[in-house]
Amino acid sequence: MSEAKRCPQCQNEMVWQRKTIRYEREGLPITLEGVWVRVCPACGHKLVRGPLAIQLMDLADQLFRSAKQLGEEANLPMPSVHLVFPETDEIP
Ligand SMILES: [Zn+2]
Repeated sequence: MSEAKRCPQCQNEMVWQRKTIRYEREGLPITLEGVWVRVCPACGHKLVRGPLAIQLMDLADQLFRSAKQLGEEANLPMPSVHLVFPETDEIP
């Protein structure tokens, strides 16, 4: 496990929790459930680990591009995307 980290907003010690993260891009809502993030118990500020944040953004980009292409080629409306990561004991 990583060392303790302080909240950038209020300096409280942050704790690890599985959380739901939402992105929205040009009308495509993407919900990622069960992502391990650091959460401030005092103010609720969330921090996603740097490399993971980049990978999740990349995933959202790919989903958005695919959904947009599908919309253009098959004339379908934008779907909503909901991904659930399985429960794990290990903080990645
Ligand atoms: Zn805080």
